[in-house]
Amino acid sequence: MDLFKKYITMFRQDMRQVMSTRCGLDELNNLLMLIGFLNIVAAMMTHKWILTLLGAAFVVLCYVRVFSKDLVRRKKENELYMRYLGGVVRTVQLYELRLKMKLRTMKDKQYAYFVCGSCGQVIRIPKGKGKVSIRCPKCSQTFVHKT
Ligand SMILES: [Zn+2]
Repeated sequence: MDLFKKYITMFRQDMRQVMSTRCGLDELNNLLMLIGFLNIVAAMMTHKWILTLLGAAFVVLCYVRVFSKDLVRRKKENELYMRYLGGVVRTVQLYELRLKMKLRTMKDKQYAYFVCGSCGQVIRIPKGKGKVSIRCPKCSQTFVHKT
């Protein structure tokens, strides 16, 4: 068991080392993965082979970018994507984070977790204080939440 754990840690360290020189999962790769996944789901429902092919193509493209060593080019692609669709990406990320923090609040008995609407900072507040006005420590935005 210990040997297994050791092996997993070693593998993780190796992966981290490898991935530090690769592109990894940037925003554009997340989108490619999502499109690929949606196409494959659609293919399973409609039994259309062209959707399977399209889905596989997007997943392959994503993996090519994830393991790419040409970081300069990959960064440029991602910047171009973020320039046009950055607003949408950030909105989705904010919703994702809010959902995560809601789940975390449900699990945590002591604290409630909120996400600042203007900068995305996570704020932890003790539970059971009723309605409180929260001031974001990062951007000073204030908002009212029930704890
Ligand atoms: Zn903030």
